[in-house]
Amino acid sequence: MEIFKKVGESARTIGGGISEGAKSIGKKSSDLVGVAKLKIEVGKLEKEIENNMFALGKYVYMQYNGEEGHEEEIERLVNSTRILEEEIADIQAQIDKFYPKTPVCSECDTELPSGANYCFMCGNKVEQDGATE
Ligand SMILES: [Zn+2]
Repeated sequence: MEIFKKVGESARTIGGGISEGAKSIGKKSSDLVGVAKLKIEVGKLEKEIENNMFALGKYVYMQYNGEEGHEEEIERLVNSTRILEEEIADIQAQIDKFYPKTPVCSECDTELPSGANYCFMCGNKVEQDGATE
């Protein structure tokens, strides 16, 4: 779980203020605190992507106006944005682990409570092996 370690560490460095207050809530909420931190991290990365997009737009505009020589900057911004998107996907995967996908009946598409063995609507047996993947 190399990714988790990495995410956990970077998340720890950001939401310092949150963890202080959350400590008093108790151990049981530690998962939720983890999720909150991951979400903060996602928000931060999304903000960086926004900034990249803004800068990209600026350079594209400059190019349309005949200003040349911004290819390197544009490439750097595109690559940086791709990395950010990958990081967000990694973190999102961690968040999803805290919130397992709501099981859905394969017969009637009814959303079921997690851990349900049978659909309460049609009685269909629910697959428990992560068949939604
Ligand atoms: Zn059903």
